[in-house]
Amino acid sequence: MFGEGNSPVRAPERPLVDPFGRAITYLRVSVTDRCDFRCVYCMAEDMTFLPKNEVLSLEEIDRIASAFVRRGTRKLRLTGGEPLVRRGIIDLVNNLGRHLKTGALEELTLTSNGSQMARHAEALFAAGVRRVNISIDTLDAEKFARITRWGRLPQVLDGIAAATAAGLKVKLNTVALAHENADEIEALMQFAAAGGHDLTLIETMPLGEIGEDRVDQYLPLSRVRHDLAQRYTLTDLPHRTGGPARYVHVEELGLQLGFITPLTHNFCESCNRVRLTATGQLFMCLGQEDQADLKTVIRRTGTDDAAIDAALDEAISRKPKGHDFVIDRRGARPAVARHMSLTGG
Ligand code: SAM
Ligand code: SF4
Repeated sequence: MFGEGNSPVRAPERPLVDPFGRAITYLRVSVTDRCDFRCVYCMAEDMTFLPKNEVLSLEEIDRIASAFVRRGTRKLRLTGGEPLVRRGIIDLVNNLGRHLKTGALEELTLTSNGSQMARHAEALFAAGVRRVNISIDTLDAEKFARITRWGRLPQVLDGIAAATAAGLKVKLNTVALAHENADEIEALMQFAAAGGHDLTLIETMPLGEIGEDRVDQYLPLSRVRHDLAQRYTLTDLPHRTGGPARYVHVEELGLQLGFITPLTHNFCESCNRVRLTATGQLFMCLGQEDQADLKTVIRRTGTDDAAIDAALDEAISRKPKGHDFVIDRRGARPAVARHMSLTGG
């Protein structure tokens, strides 16, 4: 059994709490900067990936993630790049699954493009994963190939079906793109509802140079929501995740629909999360450059828990109050230079 409420949760001895009183309970880990797709809003087609020795080993990821769990992290999300293209990923998930069994961790999950999901869904379930996010921006095969450059729609549809068949609850993630899928949002909602999935729409974020005009692609979700409200009954749902998502129930479809709007809403006051890059840099805020170099700490101090604890304390003491994302309407330069695939979406 995977700690599903049968063992009482013990509070961590030394919880990580930032200077603004926010407990850090959610860690997102980018396990690789590599990917088998090249989505237009995420990567340039000729991306240069990191040398392997700069990327954390699976053991190093486990050590850092486990230190966070010891200090009160309840939810761990593996992302990337594409987490399922990392060799040995299932070993990592199996190892991290031990924290589910003790009840220290409430949820181990991942965000995937779905391309390798059919191969791994059953192993993920066996390791204790119960929910996954799968990204899909369109149901049109040609458009899908254009947006992802290297991806093919049937692979991802198979991945969604395999995850569902394995018992995983699937949430679909769709980046809202003014010229690509603005007219397809309802079709995606119907597809999600028919499959029993939730759907979350994401506003494009200005992360990294990608050789595309972001202002051109930017579709404000406030407008999408306004348009949907003309045709559907949208009821606000109270549940919040400590992140930038807001949820509504779409009565007519029986669908839970999320909106992630980092540019138009301020969600920072309830932020409970930090992000670990594939190279072991801890970003305390998605929209700021400040970071802590945990790779150097663990490579220098080996298995010394006190050293990593001290590094976590120091890093969290620097978590900023909020972010300053902006899509610069003149230059359309990214507000933050690193790519989403490095930090983890
Ligand atoms: N490869 C996996 C995937 O595509 O789901 C995980 C990593 S990806 C960086 C995580 C999420 O970030 C995806 O849903 C993707 O669509 C989204 N994303 C990537 N670049 C983005 C950007 N510039 N703005 C908003 N969302 C973005
Ligand atoms: Fe790869 Fe995900 Fe980025 Fe697309 S959004 S290029 S699938 S990491």
